[in-house]
Amino acid sequence: MSIGLGKSKPCPICKKPSVAEFHPFCSARCADVDLNRWLTGAYVIPARDDEATQDDEDGALGYNEDDNI
Ligand SMILES: [Zn+2]
Repeated sequence: MSIGLGKSKPCPICKKPSVAEFHPFCSARCADVDLNRWLTGAYVIPARDDEATQDDEDGALGYNEDDNI
């Protein structure tokens, strides 16, 4: 790959190295998490490394990953 940007920023969601395909995220999952946070107006840059605390967000919406109707 030749993205002449030198260093790429880490994934803003989980701080893992980002992947070009999902830039600036590391995976489609993190991109989806970010999108959902923007949509719900609850975007906060996580200071932790774990993804297991997403349920602790005020419960504005009753779902997290159940995208199917
Ligand atoms: Zn990530």
